Amino acid sequence: MIESTELIGEFKGLYDKVKLCYQCGTCAGGCPVFKQYSRFNPRRIMEKLLAGEFTKEVFEEQQIWYCTGCYTCSTRCPQGIDIGHIINEMKNMAVKVKNAPEGIIAEMTAILETGVTAGISQSAMKRRVKLELPELPPPDLSEIQKLMEVTGVVAKLNSLKEHAN
Ligand code: SF4
Ligand code: SF4
Repeated sequence: MIESTELIGEFKGLYDKVKLCYQCGTCAGGCPVFKQYSRFNPRRIMEKLLAGEFTKEVFEEQQIWYCTGCYTCSTRCPQGIDIGHIINEMKNMAVKVKNAPEGIIAEMTAILETGVTAGISQSAMKRRVKLELPELPPPDLSEIQKLMEVTGVVAKLNSLKEHAN
């Protein structure tokens, strides 16, 4: 179990944001990830926050990383709870204690090195030509790298990589 005492204050802050949740399940009902993969359940994550069982979700099961950040749940919650943002905060907390899945580290590295998480395939390029769509401009890599540097993403990525080795 990863030591999480440094995050107790932050978890209390999350509890305050979720305490009006009455477990109606609307968030899960509209979640596109839950529809495909029922182990990821935003209602259940809110329930764990309410019950103080958050550490398992954040530090062991890593379910939060399946959230795409589409915010459908936040717009539909009858209690006005910003579930998508809460899950983002949980991701940030997990990174603080260096607990991010390998796939996330790989995606962050790809953005830093190429500006995208995955390059566009040759077949997609050909389809674009066939459809007479304009050529895609390359990402502005130096701008992306500068942004990642000044926002602290590069430092976080390096510390995640060090921890993973
Ligand atoms: S939609 Fe809102 S009130 Fe309903 S379970 Fe989700 S967070 Fe709780
Ligand atoms: S923000 Fe995350 S939890 Fe909410 S509906 Fe989208 S994928 Fe599901």
